[in-house]
Amino acid sequence: MKHAFFVLLLLLLPFRESIAREPDMMLADLADYDSSIILDIRYATTNNFTGKKVYPAARCLLRRDVAMRLLKVQEKLRAKGYRLIVFDCYRPLSVQKHFRALLPDERYVADPANGLRHNRGAAVDVSLADSTGRPLEMPSGYDDFSEKATRGWSGSSTAARRNSELLDTAMEEEGFEPFSAEWWHFDAAGWELYPVSDFPLEKTGGCEE
Ligand SMILES: [Zn+2]
Repeated sequence: MKHAFFVLLLLLLPFRESIAREPDMMLADLADYDSSIILDIRYATTNNFTGKKVYPAARCLLRRDVAMRLLKVQEKLRAKGYRLIVFDCYRPLSVQKHFRALLPDERYVADPANGLRHNRGAAVDVSLADSTGRPLEMPSGYDDFSEKATRGWSGSSTAARRNSELLDTAMEEEGFEPFSAEWWHFDAAGWELYPVSDFPLEKTGGCEE
C-alpha cells in the first residue's frame, strides 16, 4: 500500500511541476481588483507625446500574476500614506507599431519588431501620489524624452529623488525591475514567459486570444 502511494506520488510530481511552470495568460483589469489605484492612462487622452487619443479605453490590463504583484505594492504603499498612479500597462502591439510610425526614432519609441514588455502585459509605467491622490514631485514629467527621465539624474530635487527611490523600493520588493532610462517604467520579473499580444484594449473578458 505504502509502495503504491509512492508510485502514485512519483507519477503526479511531473504533472504538478508542469502546472506550476505554466504562466497564467489571463489579462486582468486592475480596476476590477483595487479602485484606490489612480488610473491616469495617458494614451487614452490627448495628453501624451502623440497629442492624440490612441487607446479606445482607459484601462490597465496586466497578466494576472503581474497585476497581483502590483496590488501588493499598492497595499504596502497605502500603509505608508501613498498611492500608485498608473500611466500605462499592457499595450497592444498594433499601438506600438502606430507609435513607431509616428516617431521612427529608437531613442524615443522602441522598435516593435520583437515586441516590448508592455506588449506582453508584463510592464507598467507608474508614479506616486499622496493618500488624497495628489501627485508627488518626480524627477520629470511622464514620457519626458530628456535626460531628466533617467534614473540617477543628478539635477533632481531632493524631494523628487526621495519619491523616486520610494517608488523603486516598493516596486522592487514585489519583483519589478526598474528601467534605467525611465524612472516610471518597471518590468515584471519573468516577463519573458508571456507572449507579445495584440488583444484589443476595449475588449472585455481579458482573455488571451
Ligand atoms: Zn513603460
